[in-house]
Amino acid sequence: MDGATTVRLEGNVYASWSGAARGDLRPGGPSHADGSPLAAFAADVAAATTTRVDEVVWVTQVHGRAVAEAGAALLPTGLDGRPGCRNIGTADAVVAMDPGVALCILTADCGPLALASPEGIFAAVHAGWRGLLDGIVEATVGQMRARGATDIVGAIGPCIHVECYEFATSDLDLAVSGYGEELRGCTTDGRPALDLVAGMQAAMRACGVQAVDGADVCTSCGGGYYSHRARHDTGRQALLVWMGSPGSEA
Ligand SMILES: [Zn+2]
Repeated sequence: MDGATTVRLEGNVYASWSGAARGDLRPGGPSHADGSPLAAFAADVAAATTTRVDEVVWVTQVHGRAVAEAGAALLPTGLDGRPGCRNIGTADAVVAMDPGVALCILTADCGPLALASPEGIFAAVHAGWRGLLDGIVEATVGQMRARGATDIVGAIGPCIHVECYEFATSDLDLAVSGYGEELRGCTTDGRPALDLVAGMQAAMRACGVQAVDGADVCTSCGGGYYSHRARHDTGRQALLVWMGSPGSEA
């Protein structure tokens, strides 16, 4: 599908990351009073994978380590056949295990991480450097394991890459103290930089999550993505993670 990268994570669990071509997908954003661009994106990715999405669940993100739990879809599918959109509070990750629910994380440089297990437990994580150091990845994996997840896989979507992510040395030292020297990099012009992708990979390794292919592209220089750091973009791209209904085939 145009304007998005979609992967099958595990079993019937899929992840899709939108690009700027899909527009600003923030519910309640200027172009988005009723959540319909996000609902339209969910409807399109569901159709492209021959799956069904009844409801998009999103959270108010604050760069913390709170993980929200999404139950089964509550909102009926609209008359236009698009899923409903529901905010379930303040958190930086969402976990679910019900088909028909698409978990949404919005980003413009931070890491959108999708997680899934063979038991059909799945999650979407907003991993900026603050949330990463605060343990949002470990907290999410802990919630998944508490629900019965065993072998978890994780895929990283478009985010700012090391060559574009100049960082103050003091903050860089803090990040390195949490996850190791591999987080210390440099920009294209040789300034100190944080490797956020390496940080997410280190966090996944630390809690036994196997990394699988996602969308390996830089939001700052890769083209086609919103970047807060590079262009002060206010728009946000979306990560959706959802499980196809039982019996549906892709
Ligand atoms: Zn870049």
